[in-house]
Amino acid sequence: MAEQFDVVVIGAGPAGYHAAIRAAQLGLKTACIDAGLGKDGKPALGGTCLRVGCIPSKALLDSSRQFWNMGHLFGDHGISFKDAKIDAAAMVGRKDKIVKQFTGGIASLFKANKIAPYYGFGELQPGNVVKVRQHDGSEVELKGTNVVIAAGSDSIELPFAKYDGQAIVDNVGALDFAEVPQRLAVIGAGVIGLELGSVWKRLGAEVTILEALPDFLAVADAEVAKTALKEFKKQGLDIKLGAKVSATEVKAKGKKKEVVVTYTDAEGEKTLTVDKLLVAVGRRAATQGLLAEGTGVRLDDRGRVMVDEHCHTGVDGVWAVGDCVRGPMLAHKGFEEGIAVAELIAGLPGHVNFDTIPWVIYTEPEIAWVGKTEQQLKADGVPYKAGSFPFAAVGRAVAMGEPAGFVKVIAHAETDRVLGMHLVGVGVSELVHEGVLTMEFSGSADDLARICHAHPTLSEAIHDAAMAVDKRAIHKAN
Ligand SMILES: Cc1cc2nc3c(=O)[nH]c(=O)nc-3n(C[C@H](O)[C@H](O)[C@H](O)COP(=O)(O)OP(=O)(O)OC[C@H]3O[C@@H](n4cnc5c(N)ncnc54)[C@H](O)[C@@H]3O)c2cc1C
Repeated sequence: MAEQFDVVVIGAGPAGYHAAIRAAQLGLKTACIDAGLGKDGKPALGGTCLRVGCIPSKALLDSSRQFWNMGHLFGDHGISFKDAKIDAAAMVGRKDKIVKQFTGGIASLFKANKIAPYYGFGELQPGNVVKVRQHDGSEVELKGTNVVIAAGSDSIELPFAKYDGQAIVDNVGALDFAEVPQRLAVIGAGVIGLELGSVWKRLGAEVTILEALPDFLAVADAEVAKTALKEFKKQGLDIKLGAKVSATEVKAKGKKKEVVVTYTDAEGEKTLTVDKLLVAVGRRAATQGLLAEGTGVRLDDRGRVMVDEHCHTGVDGVWAVGDCVRGPMLAHKGFEEGIAVAELIAGLPGHVNFDTIPWVIYTEPEIAWVGKTEQQLKADGVPYKAGSFPFAAVGRAVAMGEPAGFVKVIAHAETDRVLGMHLVGVGVSELVHEGVLTMEFSGSADDLARICHAHPTLSEAIHDAAMAVDKRAIHKAN
């Protein structure tokens, strides 16, 4: 007979573990099922984010940034050294330790919150029963008064570039190269392609990013995208826009392999030969095999679980959160949905404000934004005013040797309410939260301009940008 819980969560990624922990905090008897395995083949909680996404990519970005700075920034500070070397295997080992620390941390949090973990694959049956095929081959059934689906996402595979785990890889493989590839091609100039392309470029790989779309980072503010592209090109990242890949061929190269990539751009068909190919063309909801016949839960045309604004599927007691539902595929969006659903289940007013979810790309310079872009406001016919301020005029950024980029504040032309903040530059992954906070509190550009910001800090760029909205920035001509 199925064991009974108040809440059964399928998936222990950011969305699922937040739902499970918050439900348990609220006194609900909770189980959480996860199919994920670590590199050692043992169960590892935390989902894509902790195992092969946010955290490991940031660990490698940080290691590679230290190495890049040795060759490109240290000299300006008068620091010299002999013979900088990178031991890629040691760098990956450091990353693996961090991953283990955090996946183990989720297991400890489950224990502390008395959440019952189940390790295996969960399939939702009619009547809110979840059948779990455990890794040891056994099966158990759990019945939840509520079931929260948090199955996450998997990388999309291209039919003409099948992953072989060696020469053609997705994010999982690109986080684990044992040595720096001499030549790396990346299909897709999105967040993952840019971040992982940057890691290996900084360590010495020749990196070519092939992007089918004609515009670079079309989701970002156009000026931010232009500045970022200029900086990436300066670093030697070869970003080819309007380059559509049509075929790949893996060939032997001595004991190793190489990949011939065929693509077409405005000049016609071309080929590129590389040692490794990273396919980073997006992710799709991991909903295959998740739903048995007759559950009543519906999938949309992209395989995502259909939900309303409260993450409810329309089937009594069945909810879905995170990457497997509509909305941006971001860990913190899943965090908020997981918490909101647990609170709604407990009868509290759970809520997610989709208008203030920040976006960050952890390249160098970093890119971040919240709210609407100028392009979107123009398209929507919303009157606005914008003020921007360059990091080149911010004492702290210049002292750090990081003058690239700017902050832009966009406010409504009549009410002055902040509608968006767009940033490119050093440390903007942290700075963007001033924009989030201002928008959450329905603040104005004038509110931001009148808040005292410490000197010298990077945040002064926000202060001056807010002042520039009304053409009264102090440190630049308006
Ligand atoms: C390289 C990379 C870098 C990224 N960097 C960032 C970043 O910096 N910031 C950011 O916000 N986002 C980032 N992301 C995206 C982020 O990882 C995802 O948005 C986030 O992990 C989604 O959380 P989730 O809980 O919805 O799903 P997931 O993290 O995918 O977790 C789902 C879990 O459910 C398990 N599961 C699936 N189906 C079943 C089933 N039927 N039964 C049992 N278990 C199941 C899976 O094994 C997995 O453990 C990155 C992604 C990648 C790939």
